Amino acid sequence: MKPRKNQAKKHYENNLTILFDDVHTGTSYLTGVGERADGRDINFMINYGKGLVYACITKNTANRLNLSRMDRDISHKNTLNTSTVSIDYKTTTTGISAFERADTIKNIHTSRNPGDFKRPGHIFPLIGQVEDLLTKPDIVAAALELASNFIDPIHEPTSFISEILDHNGEVSSIHDVKKFAVRHSLEIIKVSDVVHNYLQKKEWLEVIEVTDMRLFNHTLKVLKVHNHLYPSSFTVYLHTNTNDYSKRTAFHTECISGDVLGVNHECDCHKHLKEYMYDLINGQITGVVYRQKYNESSIPLHYENTIEQQLIDLVTNKMKARPITKDSMTV
Ligand SMILES: [Zn+2]
Repeated sequence: MKPRKNQAKKHYENNLTILFDDVHTGTSYLTGVGERADGRDINFMINYGKGLVYACITKNTANRLNLSRMDRDISHKNTLNTSTVSIDYKTTTTGISAFERADTIKNIHTSRNPGDFKRPGHIFPLIGQVEDLLTKPDIVAAALELASNFIDPIHEPTSFISEILDHNGEVSSIHDVKKFAVRHSLEIIKVSDVVHNYLQKKEWLEVIEVTDMRLFNHTLKVLKVHNHLYPSSFTVYLHTNTNDYSKRTAFHTECISGDVLGVNHECDCHKHLKEYMYDLINGQITGVVYRQKYNESSIPLHYENTIEQQLIDLVTNKMKARPITKDSMTV
């Protein structure tokens, strides 16, 4: 099956890739798509990992197979915090060979019956969900997201991972991992890049209200736009008499002293809402995006960039492609 998104390159499509957790732990993992698990890949993992192979599964899969999270000391910042009891597929003998471990992993996504797995076994399921990438991106969420690009969307993704250790049995440094990747023609994907790509896949903005506004004999469209990524809203003012969307859209964040109190010397703003509205009426700009003040410091920079890009897209492309009516505005 072809990947829906050309995010990971050929090696991952066929076999394994390296996922580097640059967000939290600095650990690198070998990873592959669960339903394509292959004995040779598992053998490669065991040789370069520490012998443990984890299956990454979603909460739905865990519920379906009656695999519940084991209680552990959550102060330990390792992957085992989300682990369930270990499993082997029912047809395996010892369950420990690379090929039997591949069988166990492959059968996770198709099995419906908790009785299909013996426990304890040799595969360690870790529970996570792709949505965790928004709030607490970890290796399990990233591995599941990568795998989801290669499977039919109606299936729950499963993935398998193993930490990469060096000759001394220590966690490999990224320097060593890079050399390892070249030696074995493997690609390295960073968790932060997985988060970035996940953000791009979704449209986070929804137009929830469209009204007209008269200002100095001009009619403006006023759009209330909700940001689902970080619950907050924007107001977008658009000139109705223009089809020229090549002009600039101004982005302005609410300034209490300048916009509300009218005191301009207290801030660093280039302009304030009132002046932007004059620019809009005079045709110097296409629209004004006015963002109410909220706690911006809690928003990672790349999330802001995503929203900004989608706002520009909303204002410049979607507006001209469709008539502005309330029904047509869900993005
Ligand atoms: Zn200001």
